Amino acid sequence: MWSDPRLQHVDSLQPGDLTPGRIHRLALRLMHDALGRAMDLPVLAAVGRKAGPTVGITAAVHGNELNGVEAIHKLFGSIDLEHLRGTILALPIVNVPGFLGRRRHLVEGRDLNHAFPGTTDGPTWSIYAHRLLTRFVVNLDVLLDLHTASTGRVNTLYVRANMHDARAARIAHLQRPRIIVHSPPADGTLRGAASDAGVTAITIEIGNPQRFQRDVVSASVRGIRAVLAEAGVLPKRKIQLGPPPVVCVQSEWRYSDRGGLMQVNVELGDMVVEGDLLATLVSPWGDAIASYTAPHAGIIIGRSVDPVAAAGARIVHLGRLAQPCDKLHDQTSATDAWRQR
Ligand SMILES: [Zn+2]
Repeated sequence: MWSDPRLQHVDSLQPGDLTPGRIHRLALRLMHDALGRAMDLPVLAAVGRKAGPTVGITAAVHGNELNGVEAIHKLFGSIDLEHLRGTILALPIVNVPGFLGRRRHLVEGRDLNHAFPGTTDGPTWSIYAHRLLTRFVVNLDVLLDLHTASTGRVNTLYVRANMHDARAARIAHLQRPRIIVHSPPADGTLRGAASDAGVTAITIEIGNPQRFQRDVVSASVRGIRAVLAEAGVLPKRKIQLGPPPVVCVQSEWRYSDRGGLMQVNVELGDMVVEGDLLATLVSPWGDAIASYTAPHAGIIIGRSVDPVAAAGARIVHLGRLAQPCDKLHDQTSATDAWRQR
C-alpha cells in the first residue's frame, strides 16, 4: 500500500478530528477487496485555524472522469492556510475500481452515481455508496461534485443545479460555467443524496473523459475558488468573473432511430432554432439514410464525437433556455450567512 509517511488512515472524515492549520493527506477506509486488502480513498483535507464551514469536493465518481482530479490538485497547490477558515475536504478519486480499470462504472456494471443512498448490507456497489455518504458527505455544508462527459461524447463546462434552491443557484452562478442546467436532485445520485442530507450540492461537468484539459480545468478551479470565497473559507478577493452563463430550464439528449455512421453538424455552445440540422446518418456505402433536426430552440450542451451509431445512439445534449416565467433563482438570490457547524 502507499508508503508516504505523512499519510493518516481514517475510518470517517470528521473535520473536528483534524489538527487545524495543516493540509492533511489521508486515506479513507471504505472497503476490502476479495484478497482482504483495504480499498482506501485518497483524501486531501485543508483545515483552517479559525472555525468555518466544511466544503467537500469529489471527483471521479465515474472512474474515467479525470479533469476534476486535476482541478482538486491545482486547488490544493495554491491554498494559503493562514487565511483559511473552516475545512476543505476533497476526494480526488471516489470510484477507485473504475479509476484503476479506466472505466465509468464501479463494479458489476453498476453506476455509482445511481447507487445512493445505498444500504448497510447488500451488493458491493450499494455498501460503497452508503459508506461514502455516512463517512464523508453527511459532515459537509457544501458539496461540489466534479464530472465530465462520457466516452464518445464531449461537453462544455456546465453545471447541474436545483435552481429553485437559492444557495445552489448562487454557487452555480459563481462557478461561471458556460451553461447552467436546472436539474432537481435526482434519485440515486450523489448530489441528490447530499441534498437529502441537508448539504447544498451542485454537479460541475468539466469537459471530456480520460484526459486532463488545461483550459476547462483552470476555469473550473477559478469557479471553485469563487465558491470557497463566498462560503467564507477563502478570503474574498476581487475576481474577474467571466461572462454570465446561459441558464437552461431543462435539457435532454436527442437519439438516432436508425443505425449508421453519424456526422454531427453543430458545435458545443451553438444556439439552434427549431428545424436546424443537428446530424446526418449515412449507410456503410455512404448513402444518406436519415437527418435529425432540432425539435425546439436551444443551446448545444454536449455532443457525440463517435461516428459509429447504432439505432438509439446519442446525438446532442440540447438545453432549453429558461424564461422569466420559469422563476429560477439568479445569482443574487442567496445572501444569507453560511451555516456553520
Ligand atoms: Zn460523471
